[in-house]
Amino acid sequence: QLTSSLDTLSDPIWIKDKDQVYVYCNPAFEKLISLSKPEIIGYNDEEIQSLHVQLNQQIIPTITANQETGTTEEYVSLPYGNVDYFQVSIARTYDMNDQFFSSVGYAQKITPFKERESELVDAEIRVNEALKLTKVGIWEWDINKDIWFATPSYFTMLGYAPVEGMADRKAELEKIHPEDRHHVLDTINSILTSKTGPNYYKYQARIKHVDGNYRWIGVRCIVTEFDQEDKPARMLGVRIDIDEIQKAHDQVEWLAHHDSLTKLPNRAALNKTFHQIIKPNTKIALLFIDLDHFKNVNDTLGHTIGDQLLLTVADRMRALVDNLGYVARQGGDEFIILLPAENEEYLIEKTCAIKDALSARYNIDDHQFFITPSIGVSLYPRNGEDFDTLYLQADAAMYHAKHSGRNRYAFFTEEMQAISTRALTLGNALHDALERKEFSLHYQPQVSLITGKIIGAEALIRWHNQELGHISPAEFIPLAEESGQILAIGEWVLRETARQLKQWLDEGVAPVRIAVNLSYAQFQADDLPAIVAGILNEYAIPAEYLELELTERIATKDPEHTITILESFQQLGIRTSIDDFGTGYSSLSYLQKFPVYKLKIDQSFIRNMTTNTNDQVIVGTIILLAQQLGMTTIAEGVETKAQLDMINNIGCDDIQGYYISRPIPADEFKTSYLEKKQRLITVDD
Ligand code: C2E
Ligand code: CA
Ligand code: CA
Repeated sequence: QLTSSLDTLSDPIWIKDKDQVYVYCNPAFEKLISLSKPEIIGYNDEEIQSLHVQLNQQIIPTITANQETGTTEEYVSLPYGNVDYFQVSIARTYDMNDQFFSSVGYAQKITPFKERESELVDAEIRVNEALKLTKVGIWEWDINKDIWFATPSYFTMLGYAPVEGMADRKAELEKIHPEDRHHVLDTINSILTSKTGPNYYKYQARIKHVDGNYRWIGVRCIVTEFDQEDKPARMLGVRIDIDEIQKAHDQVEWLAHHDSLTKLPNRAALNKTFHQIIKPNTKIALLFIDLDHFKNVNDTLGHTIGDQLLLTVADRMRALVDNLGYVARQGGDEFIILLPAENEEYLIEKTCAIKDALSARYNIDDHQFFITPSIGVSLYPRNGEDFDTLYLQADAAMYHAKHSGRNRYAFFTEEMQAISTRALTLGNALHDALERKEFSLHYQPQVSLITGKIIGAEALIRWHNQELGHISPAEFIPLAEESGQILAIGEWVLRETARQLKQWLDEGVAPVRIAVNLSYAQFQADDLPAIVAGILNEYAIPAEYLELELTERIATKDPEHTITILESFQQLGIRTSIDDFGTGYSSLSYLQKFPVYKLKIDQSFIRNMTTNTNDQVIVGTIILLAQQLGMTTIAEGVETKAQLDMINNIGCDDIQGYYISRPIPADEFKTSYLEKKQRLITVDD
């Protein structure tokens, strides 16, 4: 019974007598050594091997040779290069006289377990290697016994020699940067004392490298065991070197909040600071500082000098504000400063000091020059509660300072608010004005002082909006120039003038030359002559019917460009004139190269010339100059007979002004002037 039940077992079993001769084996054993019972029973191991030399030489001796009682693990190489692991158990039997009688062998295949085991060992080796590479340190802490262990990499990642066995936890805490230590200890304590909170924590801290420098280390840790009282008993932690990541992060953070040229905080950073420093009873001033004509420095001396100027400006402000307030760069040549405003007198004093410091002479490389600031000031909490509002208000005040002559400061007032609100409303309405056909042209006649007859007219744009009513071009043209809409509007004026001329021609009334105003943006475009020629062509209008007005300021901005464009117009047969003459900075050398036909003497001189001899002299000089250059002159803004007579005496050619007529709609202009052509004025000699 015993034998037949052993026969059914899948694990090999064999029995040898006291002389090592096989007396029994089961089929699993036969299979293992690839022999049948008759070839096994009655032989010992050596005999079997010598009789069957082709047999795998390994199996038999390794598995069956052992005679001692006990369990061993053996491994054997099988044919075809495989390896099998066996757990071999040997039991000895003894006869009644306690004499060794036989040995029973039993081999259990454990290859699958062995393979798992070796995989685990491999994995552990790999993990350890990986830990070394990634600079990851692992530690475990038995809290109650205060026993603390760490992997070698824990120490080596910061250059220390690894500690075998129990390590000194307190000594490790000493390596934390003093500024971070508090936070770290607090974090650990919060875990140790809390029963309800999370059972993990993470923190970042600077930890001392063996070379003495601190490196950023990230730590994550978890409680792995609690005691009977639910208190943490064991913790496992991991730490990684995040120094490079942290430094890159810090760098990005810095760049996001600073201006890279001056190293000053930017507006976003100042916004943060502002909200940190405001308290219920604080008073703070926000100064918006813009450099006057900074562009000139960049354009004439180059960007390198421009940058150095900005650096010097930043330094001067930093030195003055010191630790009283905060300086930030908004961008370009714009800066923002926060100053305490408890004492208004002091604030004004400080603002003046900043203005004076910035207007002092700059010595950069070999260049010496001056630049002035325009400063707008808004007050917290009087003008506004939040940074953005105060910023916009200070900006509005700065614009005001600029428009009232630059190199000055202005405090924000409600009135400025109204101005900028209106600008916003107009800007929005302007957007649709062309499409809604809200523009029209009025014509103001120009009269010759010699013949007393009409010689032309100036086309002046008019805007009527349903909600806003009539808006003066003096108000909306600058807005359109700022927003760029002036290009489309300017082209509409040219087209409308051409269309009107064509209509008059078709109606059989002889038109006069119409002068159209050009804006800076239009004049800057190189294709302006082509656009104008195209429009004239479209309506079949001879070039002599069009005159183009260019203000002196625009003409002198880039004189070379002006000459090129004016020459193109000359070739097209279109006359040009210089508007508002006397208010700009024409140099004689350029003026004589401008192929213009007429100078329009600015209204301001005409207005005052009857009372102000200075203006009288200026007008006289302009007329002489024009005569020398072969240009004609027209006096703008002539309102009275007295002005007319004086102008006539000095030798001006033509006049334009309310004395003759205000600008009037096309129909009225046609009936009153084009169809009559009578003598309009008589002048006293
Ligand atoms: P501007 O080119 O100097 O035009 C002359 C301005 O003086 C006109 O004002 C005109 O109405 C006004 N004026 C004429 N005679 C007299 C007078 O005897 N006394 C007084 N006090 N004023 C007189 P307006 O029409 O309000 O235009 C203002 C400015 O708007 C123009 O100054 C011009 O710079 C601009 N503008 C007008 N129409 C256009 C246009 O179609 N395109 C462009 N780019 N600018 C335009
Ligand atoms: Ca004009
Ligand atoms: Ca003018």
